[in-house]
Amino acid sequence: MEDNKKKSPFAKEYEIAWDKYSQKDLKNVFELADRYIDFMSRCKTERECVEEFRNRAERAGYKNLQDLIEANKKLKAGDKVYAELMGKTIALFVIGKRPLEDGMLILGAHVDSPRLDLKQNPLYEDTGLALLDTHYYGGIKKYQWVTMPLALHGVIVKKDGTKINVVIGEDDGDPVFGVSDLLIHLAKDQMKKSLAEGVEGEKLNVLVGSIPINDKKVKNRVKQNILKILNDKYGIVEEDFVSAEIEVVPAGRARHYGFDNSMIMAYGQDDRVCAYTSFEAMMEIEKPEKTCVTLLVDKEEIGSVGATGMHSRFFENTVAEIANLMGVYSELTIRRALANSKMISSDVSAAFDPNYPEVMEKQSAAFFGKGIVFNKYTGARGKSGSNDANPEFIAEIRKIMEKHDVTWQISELGKVDQGGGGTIAYILANYGMEVIDAGVALLNMHAPWEISSKADLYEAKKAYYAFLVEA
Ligand code: MN
Ligand code: MN
Repeated sequence: MEDNKKKSPFAKEYEIAWDKYSQKDLKNVFELADRYIDFMSRCKTERECVEEFRNRAERAGYKNLQDLIEANKKLKAGDKVYAELMGKTIALFVIGKRPLEDGMLILGAHVDSPRLDLKQNPLYEDTGLALLDTHYYGGIKKYQWVTMPLALHGVIVKKDGTKINVVIGEDDGDPVFGVSDLLIHLAKDQMKKSLAEGVEGEKLNVLVGSIPINDKKVKNRVKQNILKILNDKYGIVEEDFVSAEIEVVPAGRARHYGFDNSMIMAYGQDDRVCAYTSFEAMMEIEKPEKTCVTLLVDKEEIGSVGATGMHSRFFENTVAEIANLMGVYSELTIRRALANSKMISSDVSAAFDPNYPEVMEKQSAAFFGKGIVFNKYTGARGKSGSNDANPEFIAEIRKIMEKHDVTWQISELGKVDQGGGGTIAYILANYGMEVIDAGVALLNMHAPWEISSKADLYEAKKAYYAFLVEA
């Protein structure tokens, strides 16, 4: 009884995960954080995340679904398979012992993050400086992106189909880029503007050069010099920007945070903190009862749209292919498999911030160190746009978390009328499956550098594993 009381999110001395860790646990907590920091330092776009997950899955014995289809290979319990879409979305499956129509256990998270995207005709020269025009992606506070080192990550596809991977600004020897801001001395008018208007979207231009090319006959000599450098290095011409996807992201490695190293500072933790921990939990699944799935998708930050967003038919189509290779393909099997599934749909939560207590309601806020956060609902102003998890399912989740000694909390994003946010949960719920929102709490969500707690990262991974082996 005493013990249970301590584990309840309603108890006064409600468990802080750090209190329960043995020396061995602590070692595991910090090792997971180290692996995550390494991942976050290298993978800053949806493509880089999916490539990393695919490579690691292949090393762990996962087979490419497309290869299995072409070879007409049959799937049986214990088989591991992945399907990838356009290099931006990946679904991993471990086939269960029970029939597919009994439903799947699904972990979902997204791998796209807020950033500045280059426009399709981005390069120009103004007063002897070369700049790149951007269009921001997702919800950002624009003033946070000026005067900081930025890196370019992405791909350029030439007319002949050759794809060039670009990463500049991450190695010590690389230059970095940036967006300038007005000096305080001349900012009298700017300082009177609201935070929303102080830095405008069209002013988020990235400075990339200032040396003119040594040919006085040409116009825009600084721009021409940049084009020459790009041509020498990548073999591209200006027109190739049209078929490029270059993302401007914070430059530099993710870091340990705090005197006690208890936290992590990284770009893109929304939602790669949930994607990474879901992926690691999935890699530990062998011969499950029900088929286990980890679904890591793109485009959540702009409404889950497009082929690689959660609204696309990709997942449903993939389940149909899996059913076919399991020898149980029928329209009805697929519908039943989806309807009988259960899902933890993960996305980050807002951690209580002592600097801004006024937007939170303490009784329903998430706190660092109190473990994975479950949300019965998300949405904004009257739960609009949310999946509202059923109490029957939440009760099952409570039981599973308790059995696996997972530290967890339940929260809302902030005060009822203050704002809100959506996730991919409601989209999968459309199939009639049980879905609950969960995730890791962050400080600075959507800022260039977001903060998480290492304890919460560890508890999230434990929660995902527990769900896959128990639900
Ligand atoms: Mn998110
Ligand atoms: Mn977000």
